[in-house]
Amino acid sequence: MKSAEANYPQISQHELQAMAYSDPLTGLGNRYRLRDKVRQLAAERASDPAPFTIGIANIDGFKPINDLFGAAAGDEILCQVAHRLKACIPDGATVTRHEGDEFAFILPLVFERTGAERIGHMIKDVLSAPYDLGDRNVRLSSSFGFAVYPFAGQEFEDLLKSAETALYRSKRRGRGQITVYSSEIAQEMKRATQLEQALRNAIITDAVEVHFQPIVRLTDEMVIGFEALARWHDPDLGFVSPAVFVPLAEERGFIDALSETLLRKAVEAALSWPRDLFLSFNLSSAQLMDPGTADNILSILGRAGFDPSRLELEITETAVMTSAETATKIISDLKQAGVRISLDDFGTGQSSLGRLRDFTFDKVKIDRAFVSRISTDRPSEHIVKAIVTMCDGLDLEVVAEGIENRNESEKLRGLGCEMGQGFFFGRPADANATLRYLRDNFRDLAPVGA
Ligand code: C2E
Ligand code: CA
Ligand code: CA
Repeated sequence: MKSAEANYPQISQHELQAMAYSDPLTGLGNRYRLRDKVRQLAAERASDPAPFTIGIANIDGFKPINDLFGAAAGDEILCQVAHRLKACIPDGATVTRHEGDEFAFILPLVFERTGAERIGHMIKDVLSAPYDLGDRNVRLSSSFGFAVYPFAGQEFEDLLKSAETALYRSKRRGRGQITVYSSEIAQEMKRATQLEQALRNAIITDAVEVHFQPIVRLTDEMVIGFEALARWHDPDLGFVSPAVFVPLAEERGFIDALSETLLRKAVEAALSWPRDLFLSFNLSSAQLMDPGTADNILSILGRAGFDPSRLELEITETAVMTSAETATKIISDLKQAGVRISLDDFGTGQSSLGRLRDFTFDKVKIDRAFVSRISTDRPSEHIVKAIVTMCDGLDLEVVAEGIENRNESEKLRGLGCEMGQGFFFGRPADANATLRYLRDNFRDLAPVGA
């Protein structure tokens, strides 16, 4: 026993201690160092009740970088981040690596929200400079959550939880956000969690519905298809807009379950429509990052016996951009099966005309923002005209969204826009009302009650 032990290098108590408290990759302190420092500072402040602040920084979109360029590149970025943080934090502050792509700071001289925000902005700027990976540079933003002691928690665990809540809120709001914990923010997060529970429940009990809004040919106002729009009425929360609950399901990771229910219901309804009407269905951006999406959709169609060439999927530019490679694959698999793709909300977001060519869309939907200004605002009219001309040249169909009156409809038709959708032609209606409308207006459908 003794001789075997003698082969190990001697590690002093001191070294062992240092190892237990540091992160081998970056050389920064680890979460135990953070915990001990916070406890120590809190004990010091027991007699002198001055606040102090802890913060967490999380790099946005780190995982795709890791996946795309390899773990070595990811490690290199983490080391560069650690280096920058050490160099930029104020005197007396401590920086640690919390876990993965998350770093933490203790700021003994930051006493309140504005001070924390100021430091947050400074660090954010420092971290946003390009990272040198030898053969390429990458740019990354980062999100921040801060918590001020003792208001946000007296014990380390509570304080950290508050900083995490603040960070979570930053992440929810997109990239590069800074949040300092407060009781209002805690409330806001609590409401989101209640909403999440209720929505999960509604999916399980099949309480989320689909309504349908007609899309017409502008020349004769004939209905040529419908867009499916999710509808949810909760007994306690009332009507909740899909603009709220769809992003929530994305963030909390159950958009697949939600979308599957919606598509299943939409397809079931559309099976009773005349065969030449198409169904347009919104895909969320998270679904375009999930390689399983094409198979999921096609198997729902298969099970229902719905012809894929009657389905159009509406996607947005931001969705396509966040995960271009996966999105391209999903789109090409779906197109192969006959599904058509339309680009939703065109003209908003980071419009890139090049993308229209790269992704071989079939259709472009001009955002309501232009349509609603078309009667009063010359520039909007010119923009719509340019979009229509361009789509013509690229052999893409065009739909104008949000048409609310005859004037808009006629103006759009005059500009050569083929199709339209909006309250002027019909509001979204449930499956039964839609079917009644079709039975009254399409000769080849059996009348209601038949
Ligand atoms: P969107 O895809 O741009 O859908 C069009 C929105 O405009 C719908 O709002 C529709 O009711 C509304 N709208 C239609 N015509 C008019 C009009 O003439 N005037 C005005 N003011 N509004 C009009 P809605 O149903 O509240 O949906 C909001 C957003 O939620 C949708 O925007 C879409 O991004 C998302 N969404 C809705 N259903 C689904 C779904 O099943 N899946 C996914 N992933 N997203 C959905
Ligand atoms: Ca849409
Ligand atoms: Ca739209």
